[in-house]
This record gives sequence, C-alpha cells and structure tokens, in this order.
Amino acid sequence: MEAAAVMSGFILLLFLGSMVLPGRVLDGPAVNGQVPTYKLNGLLLFVLTMLLAGLAQFTGLFSLSTLQTHFAALFVVTNLFAFLLAGWLYWRGTRTEDSPRGFFGGYFFGVEHSPVWFGVNLKLFSYRPSLIALALFNVSFAVTQYEANGQLTLAMILYQGFTFLYVFNYFQFEYGMIHTWDLVSERFGWMLIWGDYVLVPFFYCISGWWLLQSPSPLPIPAAVALVLLFVFGFWLFRGANQQKHRFRRDPQISIWGKPVQTLQGRLLVSGFWGIGRHLNYTGEICVYFAFVLTTGFTSWVPFLLTAWLVGLLLHRSWRDERRCSAKYGALWEQYKQRARFSMIPFIY
Ligand code: NDP
Repeated sequence: MEAAAVMSGFILLLFLGSMVLPGRVLDGPAVNGQVPTYKLNGLLLFVLTMLLAGLAQFTGLFSLSTLQTHFAALFVVTNLFAFLLAGWLYWRGTRTEDSPRGFFGGYFFGVEHSPVWFGVNLKLFSYRPSLIALALFNVSFAVTQYEANGQLTLAMILYQGFTFLYVFNYFQFEYGMIHTWDLVSERFGWMLIWGDYVLVPFFYCISGWWLLQSPSPLPIPAAVALVLLFVFGFWLFRGANQQKHRFRRDPQISIWGKPVQTLQGRLLVSGFWGIGRHLNYTGEICVYFAFVLTTGFTSWVPFLLTAWLVGLLLHRSWRDERRCSAKYGALWEQYKQRARFSMIPFIY
C-alpha cells in the first residue's frame, strides 16, 4: 500500500508539474501526419524534485534510503501501473483509430503515435518519471551508504557524479528529444511504457547495488581513467545529438568552426556525422561503461546493463539504417560511402 501511494503520488505530482510549470513550447516534426506541440519544462521539474528530495532528507521528513529498502515493492506496483497504463492507452486509442496489429500487437506496440492528456504529451512526459526515478534511486544508494558508514567511497562519488550529470543533461537537452526515433516514429504502447516506467529506473541503477557492498577501493589511476572515459563518451553522445538537432532546426549552421556540409541539404556530413553514422550510440555506450566500471570487476552482474545497451543500440542502428535507406534511397547509399563506418571508425 505504502509503495503504491509513493509511486502514484510521485507520478501524479510530476504530471501536475508538467501541466502547470512554465516551459518553452515547441512544435515537433510531424508525427503520423500531425504536428505535435511539446512543453519543455522537464529540467525545472527535475531540479525542483531533487531540491524537494534533498529538503526532505535534510529535515528528516523522509530518508531517500527508503527507496532502496522498498525497491521490490516499488518494482511490483510500478509494473502493475505500466500494464494498466498500456491497457488504458490501448482502449483510448481504439476509440478513434483501428489497432494496426490486432489486440496483442496494439497493446504491445501501441495504437496512438502521440497521445496527449490534459495538454501533456504522454510520450515525452513518460521520460520524466523514468529518469527522475532513476536519479532518486541512485541518490538513495549514496544515502544508504552514508547512513551505514558515515562516508561515501570514491567509486560511489564518481557513480553519483556521472549519473547525475547524465540525467541533468538529458533534461537540458529535452528539446532535442523531439527529433528522436521514439518520439517521431513509434506508437505509444506497452513496449515504450514498460521501458520508461520500469526498465530504466529499476534496471539502469543496477551498479548502485554493487557499490553499496563497497568491494575493494577504486585506485586513483582507475578513477582518472573512468573520468576520461565518461568525458569522452559524453562529448561524443551529446555532441553528435546536438549537431543533428541544430542542423534540423537551421541547415545553415557551422560545425567545428566551418559551414556545414550536407548531401542535398538533407543529410549532415559534417562533424561527428561525417565520421560515423551512429557515433551518438557509441558515445552513450562509453558513458554506460563508465557507470558500470565504478563497480570494478567484482561481479559480472552490473555488466548486464552495458550488454543490454550494446544489444539495444546495435539493433536500433540496424533498424534505423533500414528506415533511412527506405526514406532517402540512393542518397543514403551516397551517405554510406561518405561516412563508411556505423559505430566504430575503421572497425564497424
Ligand atoms: P538518432 O538520434 O541517431 O536518430 C536517427 C535519425 O536521425 C535517423 O532516422 C534520421 O532521421 C536522422 N539522421 C540519420 N543520419 C543523419 C544525418 N547524417 N544527418 C541528419 N539526420 C540524420 O537515434 P535515436 O532516435 O534512436 O536515439 C536518440 C538518442 O537516444 C541516441 O543518443 C541514443 O543513444 C539514445 N537512446 C538511449 C537509450 C537508452 O536506453 N539509454 C535507448 C534508445 C536511444 P530523419 O532523417 O528522419 O530525421
């Protein structure tokens, strides 16, 4: 009961916040023939939630370590929520359009492309509880370690820094999400809903559990190497996404101090996009390796996260190549000649 109240209160507050907090309003690229409007107040919502959580922690009102101790109960009720939400969206979608793949396909992949409820775009919204819950779980590991030992290990400090920056930057870049595959092309069904509400917060924090057991201390050279890996991955991941986003909004921009080069003004061949076709994926994989390697090599279990992400992004790169090949035809072949490698220059 307690877990259900915490989970539903959390999602409800974020939803109300998304409705009423101020934010830039942007039109996105057409989705299923319609131009959706997005209100970008995720960063404000994230900062306010973290401040409130910090206040609750310091005043003794609520210890964030409770999230870690009630993890299993929260996992169960959030699953229930995700299955029910997918059912409600299926029912809502089939009132206005036919499910393209029958009941199971419609439930799993979704019916509507860009559902809006009380003025809030549910697809963009769902990343907010997802990533804010991930950030709160991560902080709860730090609080638990501090409450037990009176200090944080170097590995925990690095993990907290990396993951906080990752989530913070996601919200800074929330405007860039409107050009991503999930927002533009996918319908909104169980697959995305379960990924947002369950998989990301409950699985992506896996390293935190190993850091709690604080195995052998992280040597300083290893810590420096991890910081370098994180900075490199972040530069690639955000840099590439940012270049594409800026190009889509204004095809006349400069990249790395030079006017952009394009193929017929449609595909970017400057910057990271002239070197590889999916370097943003490679950068994100490096970032996740930095998260997981803070646990050292004491167990293979945290590496399930990197294995999952590598699999997901490899599969996504194949799907995206198919999609782009169908969309751009010969131009995509020309692009492949120009940017010959997909994710790792000279290798793959
Ligand atoms: P991209 O942001 O790479 O978008 C791919 C699209 O970009 C293509 O379909 C094409 O769409 C356009 N495009 C491709 N090449 C070019 C080019 N040279 N010039 C201009 N446009 C081009 O991929 P995603 O939307 O899949 O992912 C976005 C981010 O989200 C990535 O950084 C990824 O790592 C991250 N991600 C993270 C996940 C996680 O669980 N942590 C899961 C999934 C994604 P069009 O031409 O139609 O604009």
